[in-house]
Amino acid sequence: MLSERVRNVQPSPTLALTARAQELRRQGIDVLAFTAGEPDMDTPDFAKAGGLEAIHAGYTKYTPSAGIMPLREAISEKFRRDNRLHYSPDQIVVTCGAKHALFSALMAILDPGDEVLIPTPCWVSYPEQVRLTGGVPVLVPTDESTDFLPTYEQLRVAVTSRTKAIILNSPHNPTGTVYPRQTLKEIASLALSHNLWIIADEIYEVLVYDGHVHESIGALGKEVFAQTITVNGVSKSYAMTGWRIGYLGAPPEVARAVACLQDQMTSNPCTIAQYAALYALREGHIGYLEQVRQIFAARRQMMVEGLCSLPGVRCFVPRGAFYVFANVQGLLPRRAGERMLNTAADLAEYMLEEARVAVVPGEAFCASGYIRLSYAVSEEVIRAGIERIGNAISELKE
Ligand code: PMP
Ligand code: GLU
Repeated sequence: MLSERVRNVQPSPTLALTARAQELRRQGIDVLAFTAGEPDMDTPDFAKAGGLEAIHAGYTKYTPSAGIMPLREAISEKFRRDNRLHYSPDQIVVTCGAKHALFSALMAILDPGDEVLIPTPCWVSYPEQVRLTGGVPVLVPTDESTDFLPTYEQLRVAVTSRTKAIILNSPHNPTGTVYPRQTLKEIASLALSHNLWIIADEIYEVLVYDGHVHESIGALGKEVFAQTITVNGVSKSYAMTGWRIGYLGAPPEVARAVACLQDQMTSNPCTIAQYAALYALREGHIGYLEQVRQIFAARRQMMVEGLCSLPGVRCFVPRGAFYVFANVQGLLPRRAGERMLNTAADLAEYMLEEARVAVVPGEAFCASGYIRLSYAVSEEVIRAGIERIGNAISELKE
């Protein structure tokens, strides 16, 4: 018999749907996939050079579990320069992707039964990771009426004597909201008055649009900094999803605990990938990141305009990241031939089968009535996808 922990864990629906779209393509079926949460561009040459040089120089052995010192120094510098966060290199741990940083952070701070506040819609892995550590996810629902931001009051009433932490993600997957300073201040004050850890997932920090700015909650003051674990990585900013390098900055005792967990669970993240991340952070930050941001800004525009032109579809205009979380409540319920589409999951299945367009239903993010489309795809794919979705919608009957 497998452990109870494993019997209860759900696979990642975003990864599963991405794999399904890829499998259909492999079978020669022309599927347009809006599922993947990864940039479609290649890893930039300046980052690849770090990996190649590491191989040629023989940097192919174990490193300290927390990561090589030059990389931790580069991350420390990045946090200081971009986020006004003053983590020394020994407060930084390099991890196997940001996903692993999040999981290790939760392992480091949660005891069984501890509650973690998670504003929803939320990224698929947060509730599962909390459950895997024995913690209890407490979902705090938001919607377009507050720009998908939780209110102070909502969070306050969700706090109990067991609440240990809150997970924030800004810029946000899947809604594209960006937490403004005022909301961050309110959350910081709640965290301080109830002694909560804040886990700030800032993986999409580079991707902000229309003058919205990314702010790090840990930079709001010394007290809040001491209760914040800041998670980031190179996957999204440098198109390095496959290299599996993320990192966290944390108070010293948390960083030590996470490094110790890595000692026992993974040892260091791939040495070669660490060098690639080092080169990415050293070489790439200004011009490259702005170029990437502009590419996504143009695609966002196309995607939002396309979706909003479809009857029954409404869009919160994303302010960051590379997803549109489209409200499809106006399309439900509907009949498609013999079958009834009652939920966004039904609609997503219909779109895949009939329109050959893969999207992620809101249910994956703990929100019904929405579908998520990633615009980390080419403009041609966006154009063709909108057309296919439009045709599929026009077949639906009330
Ligand atoms: N946080 C969020 C909100 C994400 O969307 C992702 C994407 N997978 C991650 C963390 C994890 O990123 P990584 O590939 O670095 O593990
Ligand atoms: N974060 C990405 C997404 O939301 C990648 C998939 C995953 O890690 O779940 O699609």
